[in-house]
Amino acid sequence: MKDYMIHALAAKNEIRAYAITAHDTVEAARSAHDTSPVVTAALGRMLMGAAMMGMMMQDDRDLITLQIRGDGPLKGITVTADNGGRVKGFPMEPDVDVPAKYPGKLDVGAAVGHGFLRVMRDTGAPEPYVGTVDLVTGEIAEDLTYYFAQSEQTPSAVGLGVLVDTDCSVSCAGGFIVQLLPGTSDETITQLEENIKKLPQVTSMLSDGLFPEEILGQVLDGFDIEFLENTPVEFYCDCSKERIERSLISLPKQDLQDMIDEGKPVEVRCQFCNRTYDFEVSKLERLLETAKPALD
Ligand code: ZN
Repeated sequence: MKDYMIHALAAKNEIRAYAITAHDTVEAARSAHDTSPVVTAALGRMLMGAAMMGMMMQDDRDLITLQIRGDGPLKGITVTADNGGRVKGFPMEPDVDVPAKYPGKLDVGAAVGHGFLRVMRDTGAPEPYVGTVDLVTGEIAEDLTYYFAQSEQTPSAVGLGVLVDTDCSVSCAGGFIVQLLPGTSDETITQLEENIKKLPQVTSMLSDGLFPEEILGQVLDGFDIEFLENTPVEFYCDCSKERIERSLISLPKQDLQDMIDEGKPVEVRCQFCNRTYDFEVSKLERLLETAKPALD
């Protein structure tokens, strides 16, 4: 199954829903950052949440960034998504090990700890929209549910799951977001609550091989569903040698000079994808000439 996500409306537009399958995306993130299983699960859940929230945005140029910071050993994760299914992200500590909740159940909440979730939406406006909430469980899905209720006044149900294989690779990853639109009838709310109550774990639906359409079929059982967009999802980083050069040029001149004085090539690493870019001393000297003179 290729990675993709879908957007649907249900119950005569009283409900909007999203679902995703993202094995390759989460596996690409795992391999880029060489993450331990509990970090793979946390990062994967964040990437999938961000991808679906990216799909909620209106404009192709809009970007959404999710950040968690916690007092657990994982410390934090940052992910960014556009509205076309391109996501990237990184953990602050890729190699964290915490005891499983029970055999086979990774304890993401314990790895994350207490802290906050921040959502930044950059729509090209002078100031990005920023919403911050305390973490509820650190399990990501519950935290996003709480964020939607607190910051966006949108009652939601969020399910996100990543299953990690015994060889530490990703065996499946997927999830859904379901939201009540303003003016939803009590009947619809009751029915949806019933559906969510009897819904199997996301990871068990995924390991049964359910497609996003089928996951939404279960979440929205009994409602008429209208499937709208279908968007491919990928782990994608837009870094390049030119971008890294621009960031080097914008450094204080003295920092560049210090690198040159070291007299050896510098390796600059993109934190989102871990790709490295090498700069020879002669190249650094040319960048220093291009760098704007310091204001002081
Ligand atoms: Zn990169």
